[in-house]
Amino acid sequence: MKTRRTLISCDIDFEKDGKQFGFLRLPHSTDDSAYGYIPIPIICIKNGAGPRGFFMAGNHGDEYEGQIALLKLARHLSQSEMKGRIIILPAANLPAVLAGRRNSPVDHKNLNRSFPGDPDGSPTSAIAHYIESVLLPKSDYAIDLHSGGRSLMYMPSALMHRSPDEKRTARALQALKAFGAPIGYIVPEGGDDRKFTSAAERCGIVYLSTELGGGGTVTPESLEVAESGVQRMLEHFGHVQPPPKSNSTPAHSRLMEVGGDDYYVYSADTGLFEPAVDLGANVTEGQIAGTIHFPESPWREPVTLHFRRTGVVLCRRMPSRTNPGDCLFHLGTDYRAQPS
Ligand SMILES: [Zn+2]
Repeated sequence: MKTRRTLISCDIDFEKDGKQFGFLRLPHSTDDSAYGYIPIPIICIKNGAGPRGFFMAGNHGDEYEGQIALLKLARHLSQSEMKGRIIILPAANLPAVLAGRRNSPVDHKNLNRSFPGDPDGSPTSAIAHYIESVLLPKSDYAIDLHSGGRSLMYMPSALMHRSPDEKRTARALQALKAFGAPIGYIVPEGGDDRKFTSAAERCGIVYLSTELGGGGTVTPESLEVAESGVQRMLEHFGHVQPPPKSNSTPAHSRLMEVGGDDYYVYSADTGLFEPAVDLGANVTEGQIAGTIHFPESPWREPVTLHFRRTGVVLCRRMPSRTNPGDCLFHLGTDYRAQPS
């Protein structure tokens, strides 16, 4: 019978007041390091009783806005200016972060397809298990910062999943509005239960994510959305006082939703993707989305792809080289119904 205890150790005392920098030590015995471990940085800032938050980035290693925003938060936030506790995991899948890749080069796994994880599994599975079984149960809410990575570019967005628990959905919607990204979108409950969102749901805590930009880089604009959103989460959940109303402009998000398959355009061919529209475009059902060209067969007619519904382009593929099964676009539509 398998053990269910984690093999990861942590040198932080989560109940102690103050700011602590430490590591999750994930045993990893290799040819080059027989007794070695993977040192995943973790920060805990605590000042007495109060709200308990969990902030994470580097779930995917090639998404940088959240990583930078959380590194700044960890260095600049002092214990004395906040209350409660925040745990920061700025490079959750450290091997993927150090490689600048979506998936870990150690076991080729995607952390966000690895929950609830396995304490005896590969490094990525063990990290997922530690997050779900140790860190999330210590938290009242969780923020997992993503962007489009190398292959996608997003309009800067925060997002939430509907929960079967109506109260949790309502609280997530309040957090989504408070984050204040230009777009705040809502996705249906259910789907792939190997994601962080399902881990948070299983732990019964409020959860918010982001898609801040992407393309394997950051911009001043996408970082501003990340950093101001994180700051507003600290205010929203009661760790810090918001600035006086007269000194701040309330953040406003365009609330949207992303529904089923018809919101997406996929390639069915290998070739060069020529997009017909860019991020933010308003498109209609049947409108041309793009064209796939075949450089090795100049005589061949290009393939034209169409949008399957009306909406706004929230996300597009970045690399021009495209293969069957690659997501080229996805849309959002304005949010109308209240969560139920
Ligand atoms: Zn991601």
